Amino acid sequence: AAPTPMPMPTPTPPAPSAAPAPTLRRVMDDAMLESLEEVLIAADMGVDTALRVSANIAEGRMGRKVSTNEIKRILADEIARIMEPVAKPLPIYPKRPQVVLVVGVNGSGKTTTIGKLASQFKAAGKSVVIAAGDTFRAAAVEQLQVWGDRAGVPVLTAPEGSDPASLAFDAIKQAQASGADLLMIDTAGRLQNRADLMEELAKIVRVIRKVDETAPHNTLLVLDATTGQNALSQVETFRKLADVSGLVMTKLDGTAKGGVLVALADKFGLPIHAIGVGEQIDDLAPFDPEEFADALTG
Ligand code: GDP
Repeated sequence: AAPTPMPMPTPTPPAPSAAPAPTLRRVMDDAMLESLEEVLIAADMGVDTALRVSANIAEGRMGRKVSTNEIKRILADEIARIMEPVAKPLPIYPKRPQVVLVVGVNGSGKTTTIGKLASQFKAAGKSVVIAAGDTFRAAAVEQLQVWGDRAGVPVLTAPEGSDPASLAFDAIKQAQASGADLLMIDTAGRLQNRADLMEELAKIVRVIRKVDETAPHNTLLVLDATTGQNALSQVETFRKLADVSGLVMTKLDGTAKGGVLVALADKFGLPIHAIGVGEQIDDLAPFDPEEFADALTG
């Protein structure tokens, strides 16, 4: 589940005939700073964050000798420092049902994440209900039902093409009546119809507030790590469409460099509630800043 470690800028290796140096130390200069910036940008950290992190690392060290290991350690500390404040599990409120709206582009892993979360909450003794709010994609509804079965959690559906807001209304009513702890509402992710999607999400919120004016209690944005820097623009877009309260980053088990999480934390400061580390029901992990920083820096 570790992201690909980033290669560190290394001092020029000694000539083959030379005796091995006891430690690979090199003076921190502009060239080294630049290569550090390049490594961080290549690791998906984004230009702004990469430059700032590099500058922080170089601060007070210019002209001084440093080793690759030292840079790795300082970098890992710096990343952990940025990530620490955003590493927060999904908050659980006493409110029943707690309503969690799940948003994100199609394919980001919304359905899978809802299934994994449902399973975790169920294992923690919570009663969970899922509403299949992407009523326009029959396949999405079917897939969610599969996940609901796996997690042992009921999935409320509506006929294809029907109004997601009306399903959400019925779902919160039912969840209330059955005394459910948690209601997770899946939503459509058709970004190509942005105005429609905005209206659809706004209507869902309007309607569930008729039942509980404090809902939704969380609006979870699911992002796919393999989209790299695109995740930043997805956050920007979805923040305009909905009141995003936290993130889940999926597909961190692949080749994707999780570096974009650093950029996200740096830029938006939104909580990272969990990370997806595989396609199975248990493949959802809490976000651990130190583990992440260590894995990223190798
Ligand atoms: P949705 O369209 O946003 O609901 O996305 P899905 O939940 O259907 O996921 C899209 C694809 O990504 C599916 O093939 C999932 O198995 C896969 N997927 C979701 N989360 C993860 C993850 O954390 N790791 C991996 N490797 N695949 C994932």
